[in-house]
Amino acid sequence: MPIDFTLTPEQKALQKLAREFAQDIVQPLVRAADAEPDPQKGFQMMKPAYEQAYELGLVTAGFPREFGGGGLGMTDLLIAHEEICAVDCGIAFIIGVQGLGLFPVMAYGTAEQKKRFLGEACNDPTHTYQCGYAISEPAGMPGGTANFDHPSPQAGIQTTADLVNGEYVINGRKFWPTSSAGWDMKGATMNSVVVRTDRTKGGLEGLSVLMVPRGTPGVRYEPNIDKMGMRINQNCDIVYENARVPAENLVGPGNGELVVNNGFTFTGPWIGIAATAVARAAYEYVLKWSKTYTAGGTDPIIYHQNVGYMLGDIAMRVEACRYLSWKAAHYLDTYGFDGAQGLSAMTKVFTSETCVQVVYDCMRVMGCNAYDRAAHPLDKLMRDMLGFPIFDGGNMGMQRRRLWGLMADERFDPRAYANCDRVHFGKENEGIGTVTTRPEAVRELATAGR
Ligand SMILES: Cc1cc2nc3c(=O)[nH]c(=O)nc-3n(C[C@H](O)[C@H](O)[C@H](O)COP(=O)(O)OP(=O)(O)OC[C@H]3O[C@@H](n4cnc5c(N)ncnc54)[C@H](O)[C@@H]3O)c2cc1C
Repeated sequence: MPIDFTLTPEQKALQKLAREFAQDIVQPLVRAADAEPDPQKGFQMMKPAYEQAYELGLVTAGFPREFGGGGLGMTDLLIAHEEICAVDCGIAFIIGVQGLGLFPVMAYGTAEQKKRFLGEACNDPTHTYQCGYAISEPAGMPGGTANFDHPSPQAGIQTTADLVNGEYVINGRKFWPTSSAGWDMKGATMNSVVVRTDRTKGGLEGLSVLMVPRGTPGVRYEPNIDKMGMRINQNCDIVYENARVPAENLVGPGNGELVVNNGFTFTGPWIGIAATAVARAAYEYVLKWSKTYTAGGTDPIIYHQNVGYMLGDIAMRVEACRYLSWKAAHYLDTYGFDGAQGLSAMTKVFTSETCVQVVYDCMRVMGCNAYDRAAHPLDKLMRDMLGFPIFDGGNMGMQRRRLWGLMADERFDPRAYANCDRVHFGKENEGIGTVTTRPEAVRELATAGR
């Protein structure tokens, strides 16, 4: 991506391919799939579109050419991803989650693991290959995910994997993973699962990733979660009861939390452009509406100054979010995930929160008709949009914490992004904010000191 933002002829062709796929193949399926009361059925209704995406090379576009992928960089991927998300972000996540699921192998895998796992992903003759990514755990005491890098072994990730006779034996539960249960609830082709491989160590040393193939005995997939938005996506509950996988499927031993943080670096611009695309869809719809609807007056509502000013503000924020996402993608293409951490977190937080407000402002411009879910798309766009700040590493418990850990580092240079310098993120930047101080503990300390 040159700094003048010019799209190359190849990038324009990619944009056209993705736009046509979204409009011709995805668009006709979306409304019914989103409205389907059974979320698993809604997910299955998108399978033909996924198979088409695989055939077009969109599913494997970002994997290295040597394994059969398209070899595209993140900036190129964003150009295609925006066009698909502007029609439906759900199918875009079904297509893209392979990148997140196989990120541990791409970033931390051995040569043999890359050949085995990426080769399988890129060369599926049935065009149905899926790889999920499972870090999140169910709510409870202990439960949840945000403190995955907590220093205590009793906190954070509680799914365990013990090495017994050359196999890892997994026990525990995961909740939320995208596409992990597969088209038939019997499992995606592969799942990368963040587990505690050392029960005596905290989140900075005790975690690793295991690649768990479909058909592994001891893995059970519970029904698809019934969500308020992103209904086309499958998000499920996975139970591991003495599930066994070969030791050769271990990735990033002792670095599971770095895999998680770096995975979020990889997805930051990708989620950023998806949020931008959903906001863009709302903006384009409402712009057209404001030029054709008079609201009982004599002229279209765009001639009211408040509508014109608000549309201007809406357009500005959509453009700003796109350029920030592109800049973060350019950082990833230049430095890889260890270099783009901070900018990626900024992008995910800023775009997701800005674009929620953009979609809401579109509803305010349109007025009451925006609330008519049968006639207009604002309902689905708002429901989908509300997921962005809370998923892919919640902005509160995970993304802002990553940025905080980086900025608190004495070496952090606030001009690095202006100078386009690499910004290293390591274990020393993790774990910040996970250890809390309850008021009773403060009082006890104060009393003890008296
Ligand atoms: C559509 C969708 C798709 C998803 N796909 C996947 C997937 O593919 N794989 C996967 O593993 N997960 C997936 N998830 C889960 C998602 O990644 C969540 O971001 C993740 O589980 C963390 O959720 P949380 O931030 O709500 O964490 P929780 O642990 O539930 O924390 C809840 C809240 O507590 C507060 N909090 C907790 N700890 C701290 C702290 N240290 N500092 C400050 N505040 C704190 C924050 O307000 C935080 O939002 C998906 C979720 C959705 C909705």
